[in-house]
Amino acid sequence: MTSQHIPMFAQVNKYFDKAAAYVDHPPGLLAQIKACNSVFRISFPLKRDDGTIEVIHGWRAQHSVHRLPTKGGIRFSPQVDEDEVSALAALMTYKCALVDVPFGGAKGAVRIDSTKYSEAELERVTRRYTYELFAKNLIGPGVDVPAPDYGTGPREMAWILDTSSSLANGQIDALGCVTGKPVTQGGVRGRAESTGRGVYFALREAVNDVEDMKAMGITPGLDGKRVIVQGLGNVGYHAAKFIQEGGGIIVALAEREGAVFCEKGLDLDRVMAHRKETGSILGFAGARDVATSREALEIECDVLVPAALENVITGENVDRIHAQIIVEGANGPITADASEKLLARGVLIVPDIYTNAGGVTVSYFEWVKNLSHMRFGRMEKRFQERSNEQLLQGVEHLTGLRFTPEDRGRATAAAGEEELVNSGLEETMVAAYAELRMIQKDRGVDLRTAAFINAIGKVAMAYLQRGIFP
Ligand code: NAD
Repeated sequence: MTSQHIPMFAQVNKYFDKAAAYVDHPPGLLAQIKACNSVFRISFPLKRDDGTIEVIHGWRAQHSVHRLPTKGGIRFSPQVDEDEVSALAALMTYKCALVDVPFGGAKGAVRIDSTKYSEAELERVTRRYTYELFAKNLIGPGVDVPAPDYGTGPREMAWILDTSSSLANGQIDALGCVTGKPVTQGGVRGRAESTGRGVYFALREAVNDVEDMKAMGITPGLDGKRVIVQGLGNVGYHAAKFIQEGGGIIVALAEREGAVFCEKGLDLDRVMAHRKETGSILGFAGARDVATSREALEIECDVLVPAALENVITGENVDRIHAQIIVEGANGPITADASEKLLARGVLIVPDIYTNAGGVTVSYFEWVKNLSHMRFGRMEKRFQERSNEQLLQGVEHLTGLRFTPEDRGRATAAAGEEELVNSGLEETMVAAYAELRMIQKDRGVDLRTAAFINAIGKVAMAYLQRGIFP
């Protein structure tokens, strides 16, 4: 990947400026919305398992404090720098606004390749980084709430929780200081799959738009669409899983070591099992090996889902991309110039700030759960089931008919936490797409510009209605 050579914040700001031309706000306000409010940079020592000392570099950027807490993942990556963290924090501001999650945007990063450190070393890095945030009042349920991102997951979130809540001894809402935690440690059911599930909803909404698909000469619906997914981590794996379940055919999967391709479709879980067994997706029975992940992006397909890292579609390879629809699972996978070229060719790009917003949406649900100190559905589930049963009995009494045990089970079941979370996520993604689609049509712009117009409008409203301090 070439991400380190392309300044990412400038890319995000190009999209911002394109959309800003369609809104009617004072230039100073637009400049304030665009600016990254603060960046904390830290260098700290790590004692490695062999006793040597290594300096670790980290960042936390709070792009916009127009709403608090700020929110955004923590990335462990060897390529990360201040520009990338600021860009990712900016994307979080716009993403939260777009899906009506009441947070400002933030992002954190530690410059390490997590595959090259032991679990004990990663734990020390995570805890020290958390301590540094805590010491500067940059973490807390009402201040700034991290989450998983590239290279981190529930394990790191549990360490962050333990460190932060130990330091905040006695703080009653301490569980809400981080999201994406294991369910047993205050996490919410459905969070692990949420970003990928959201990517699926985004694609589903896009391909179900009969008018758009007709204009592109594509049959509406996901059924039978040939899909390529790059990155089989949290976002890519779950996106591929739900797309496959929704009727898409996964023709290629790409990882660090290369890619596998099969015209008839790959069985995702069998590919994952093969990778676990052999350490690589390559050599999967019945599939053709593709030497590099980048080459896989150029294979003929209907839908491309880049879900690994930024800047994978650039001026260098854009002319060789064949997909008609690109769904941005990762943040910033297409450079701004490549994006313009794709749009000119009639490619539909479903933009990152909408597509991968499912993660922060369900993180918001987790935070609400933590502040309420109770699992969703706990109070009403039994009550709802009993009410449903009474209704059924009433229908049986009136009709003289009996429901089968299976129908009865289905009709009386009430939602538990996972069903409620998934329902809230689907509602969020469907409603947000409808807003984008309306702006896209009204203004005659692409979906990304529509997304930025919408996000800028919502952030501007917060500034205009609250006023500017002091
Ligand atoms: P992850 O660490 O779980 O997975 C990333 C995967 O990409 C890994 O399996 C890694 O081996 C693979 N990868 C690395 N280089 C690759 C290459 N050259 N080609 C193909 N695969 C490669 O990370 P993630 O959480 O899935 O994040 C992926 C992207 O999605 C990032 O851009 C992140 O910012 C974004 N995102 C994540 C979340 C979330 O909830 N985790 C939410 C929103 C956006």
